[in-house]
Amino acid sequence: MTRLENFISRMTAQRDILDQVCPEVAKMEGLVLELGLGNGRTFHHLRERLPGRRIVVFDRELGAHASSIPEAEDLVLGEIRETASRFIGIDAALVHADIGTGYDDRDAVTSTWLPDLIARLLRVGGIAVSGTPLDHPLLQRLPPPPSVPADRYFVCRRV
Ligand code: SAM
Repeated sequence: MTRLENFISRMTAQRDILDQVCPEVAKMEGLVLELGLGNGRTFHHLRERLPGRRIVVFDRELGAHASSIPEAEDLVLGEIRETASRFIGIDAALVHADIGTGYDDRDAVTSTWLPDLIARLLRVGGIAVSGTPLDHPLLQRLPPPPSVPADRYFVCRRV
């Protein structure tokens, strides 16, 4: 797969999974947390799919398109491992993490802390969506939509 094909596959997986989970999230109370604002495309998508829902967004710096910048009170800048830890116990309905780098060694380091952080951020029954694996006893893996290849993007429920 070329890098272009890989990128398209990741974007398609994000859209299809977020579209799959948002109707359920809409019926659940709780914040939505976006870990990794980047250009703001998935934040923009979540905002459209979950009108009125508070979405708190994390990144180490602001680099999003002007159309996709959250309100100042919903933007948390800094290292996610530290900044999102302050929200542990918030009972989020959805956590979306798109902080994979494409480098296996760096993503392996992220996998040592991200699953436990997400498990502590979510309410029971809440949903995690991530570009990197979420191996954790409290995160039960869910099947992605049929359009998403195995291990392309990960969906879990907090049990
Ligand atoms: N989903 C976004 C979109 O649709 O535009 C793209 C996210 S981009 C791939 C990943 C972002 O996460 C980058 O902006 C990067 O700065 C941020 N990021 C990655 N790891 C981080 C960390 N440990 N702490 C803070 N920000 C991080």
